[in-house]
Amino acid sequence: MIYDVIILGSGPAGLAAAIYAQRARLSAVVLEKEYMSGGQVVNTYEVDNYPGLPGIGGFELGMKYREHAEKLGAQFINIEARHIGLEDEGRVKVVYTDKEEYRARTLILAMGASHRKLGVPGERELAGMGVSYCATCDGAFFKGRTVTVVGGGDVAVEDALFLARGCAKVYVIHRRDELRAAASLQERLKKCENVEFIWDTELTEITGEDHVDCLKIRNRKDGTERVLDVDGVFIAVGTIPNTGIITKLLQLDEYGYIRAGEDGKTEIPGIFAAGDIRTKQLRQIVTAVSDGANAITSVQEYLNTL
Ligand code: NAP
Repeated sequence: MIYDVIILGSGPAGLAAAIYAQRARLSAVVLEKEYMSGGQVVNTYEVDNYPGLPGIGGFELGMKYREHAEKLGAQFINIEARHIGLEDEGRVKVVYTDKEEYRARTLILAMGASHRKLGVPGERELAGMGVSYCATCDGAFFKGRTVTVVGGGDVAVEDALFLARGCAKVYVIHRRDELRAAASLQERLKKCENVEFIWDTELTEITGEDHVDCLKIRNRKDGTERVLDVDGVFIAVGTIPNTGIITKLLQLDEYGYIRAGEDGKTEIPGIFAAGDIRTKQLRQIVTAVSDGANAITSVQEYLNTL
């Protein structure tokens, strides 16, 4: 079978595309690595900037998208794409997996982005043993304990806010002396009495036998080093796009994002990028769902030319 469109990824962009594909009566399938695999949204504690749904839980919002797509008849297959090929002079796109091959006239790449690692000693060894990239997933294990958040963006501040509710003490280590996060989030965090900011500082090592015990940190301005006794460390230093399977096919920008405009068009006719994976100014849920919708419009335009 040759689908009209294969959507890779099931985060907000992929699910919005699935919804629009159903409404456009396209034959479509969503390939997802795991159930809701593409969705950073499901690991977001609270989403306070999605119009009309103030304060909705990220997981709840992700599930709403999913249920909406399923209600309209969207088809999902749990399988990991390994690479992408072209047949019939590019008119047919092939997604290769370890089991099956899937063919379509168009592809929407909506694989999102993953947590950036710091690459410091102890980070990999103690992952899951006090090193976490998801406060809402693991924060409950640290109730009444001392933890550190590394980073200064929206995610770091949201994580710190979430952790401050249950933990005795939360350090926020940031490599500069001002946060990047939205001002409203910063204001809320600065009001938390159990939060201490450690500015201009980088984490250099995470130590512990079978669980995180200490963090070694260094001030970037004067070079002074310090050891923090903590029970856990939450690393929130941004994300990197999940473009591994298409690096040979498409040109990426200097940060590894797929070069594509709001219409999702890439340099290959019939291949579109949507959501966090593409070059864009603002990576948010609201822009991801808009990308999903725009990509289906581009898919329809392209199909009409065949
Ligand atoms: P981000 O905005 O890119 O922030 C990453 C933070 O980590 C920055 O403060 C950065 O420092 C720091 N950092 C990066 N590499 C580092 C390293 N090697 N060592 C130490 N610190 C490092 O990433 P994010 O917070 O994950 O957010 C990603 C996107 O999602 C953003 O566009 C954000 O606005 C969006 N988001 C939206 C919502 C929402 O809509 N509710 C919620 C969460 C996230 P510098 O500041 O010095 O660069």
